[in-house]
Amino acid sequence: MKHARSGIGKIQKATGAGSLFSAHPSRADTFTESVIREMTRLALAHNAINLAQGFPDFPCPGELKIAASEAVRNDHNQYAITWGAKNLRDALSVRVKKFNGMDFDPETEITVTCGSTEAMMASMLAIIRPGDEVIVPEPFYENYGPDAEISGAVPKYVPLAGDFSIDEEAWKKAVTRKTRAIILNTPNNPTGKIFTKSELSFIRDLCVENNLVALTDEIYEHIVYDGKKHISLGLLDGMEDRTVTIGSFSKTYSVTGWRVGYALAGEELTARIRKIHDFLTVGAPAPLQQAAVAALALPDSYYHGLAEEYDRKRHILFDGLKKAGFSCELPDGAYYIFTDIASFGKNDVEFARHLVEKIGVAAVPGSSFYHKGGETKLRFTFSKKDETLHDACTRLEKLS
Ligand code: PLP
Repeated sequence: MKHARSGIGKIQKATGAGSLFSAHPSRADTFTESVIREMTRLALAHNAINLAQGFPDFPCPGELKIAASEAVRNDHNQYAITWGAKNLRDALSVRVKKFNGMDFDPETEITVTCGSTEAMMASMLAIIRPGDEVIVPEPFYENYGPDAEISGAVPKYVPLAGDFSIDEEAWKKAVTRKTRAIILNTPNNPTGKIFTKSELSFIRDLCVENNLVALTDEIYEHIVYDGKKHISLGLLDGMEDRTVTIGSFSKTYSVTGWRVGYALAGEELTARIRKIHDFLTVGAPAPLQQAAVAALALPDSYYHGLAEEYDRKRHILFDGLKKAGFSCELPDGAYYIFTDIASFGKNDVEFARHLVEKIGVAAVPGSSFYHKGGETKLRFTFSKKDETLHDACTRLEKLS
């Protein structure tokens, strides 16, 4: 079964039929390379401004750089405990209690991973039996399709309504006796949607009634706008022992290259996740786990400042996109603008190629966030310096 994402194959080179390994297809043949990461390579090749991949082009906080170099100097250079250095798990437990309102025992319920990417993969492998179905709301962060394929899950994509709200009947219909889990991402990439308390309550009821596990990717929890509030699904009554809450240092502290994230779950789920994690990676980078402790010690003002900075960047890109003729809305959270490009008369892949080659700006074709469809969409990130965004907007003016 091919994880079909229309259009992507037009950017990526096909793995030729009749190649050395074509008689022995493996799981790697069931999905394509990451389009987001491929767009970064195209941006470099064409000297384009990369508004495709969501990583900052500005530095991380100075405190983190100092802590990371001190950790290396102080010989935190060997394997940390597989499921995470004790001081980091302790600090995470305190932080999650304060910010998300949830209690996790650092000894038995917290696993430090190589980014939230590994947290999601390890959790899927820990929970899924091949053939189990997993509900994935669409549009979705592109990793979830391959995560499902790798773990042997059958993804059941459930489209969100036009305003990205939940179509309750469609979700209820998507659940079968084979359904094992639901993947949620709030605040959401690519849409910026923040799932509301009542939507989360609906998901809770669905999980409880059908004995499902929720895997909730909350990597953008601190990047929210206009006074909107992020709520963790795991906080809702009945979800304590059936939720894996996934977080990361990547976006909140602008250190996407450090590869430090975590999975928070009840003891039973955590024991399984830790086993998989151990054999997948042994552990996350030890010195950077120490620097992550310093990150968690930053004052509350840091988080307010982060949201304010991104709010300003959100408006710079939004104004530029509107001026260039894109149809889009301001996102409620995360750091992407998901645009409609129907009026430009090209599909997402053709238009992304035109933008990167002729205009000098890289974006992500919308179809990489859909199982089927998305050809009229394009995603831009605003996780860049103001000057980078202004430069990109000037280039985009050539479109209008
Ligand atoms: N989850 C979402 C929703 C993302 O947007 C990203 C990166 O863009 C990731 C996970 C990857 O995070 P990490 O760097 O922690 O692996």
